[in-house]
Amino acid sequence: MTLHDAYDPDNIFAKILAGEMPSIKVMEDDIALAFMDVFPQAEGHTLVIPKAVQARNFLDFPTEKVGAYMERVQLVARAVEKAMTPDGLVVTQFNGAPAGQTVFHLHFHIIPRWTGQNLRGHAGGQMADMGELESIAQKIRPFVA
Ligand code: AMP
Repeated sequence: MTLHDAYDPDNIFAKILAGEMPSIKVMEDDIALAFMDVFPQAEGHTLVIPKAVQARNFLDFPTEKVGAYMERVQLVARAVEKAMTPDGLVVTQFNGAPAGQTVFHLHFHIIPRWTGQNLRGHAGGQMADMGELESIAQKIRPFVA
């Protein structure tokens, strides 16, 4: 059902893009915005969302925009890896509520992983401390510049 619903222009990421909701940004250009996940599953959990498009998920995202957007996803993934020096890095994306999607504007998750450290729960739990998220963002930003 949620896989093919109409795009809701009031979704939280649309509000972030419109500047109506705050976010801790690490990268922004005309193609994409990357910002810290406020319910991080691991330290450095970053989201990359496409701009200037109304796409709920990867399936309805215009094909001609995929290349430029995925370049930004890779740019931010590399920056997160350099800044956080994890043992591994998850780059993932969910399509539709049954697949785990909770915000219906396309986004990729970039989640550092460390050996022996479990991931925190997805899209829930305790909201991160904004000061801590800002310090992590400060580590990541130099690597996307
Ligand atoms: P998904 O469940 O794949 O749609 O991912 C949505 C992600 O957005 C989750 O990891 C949430 O923790 C995160 N999230 C929700 N609201 C915000 C927000 N206002 N700022 C940053 N991240 C958010």
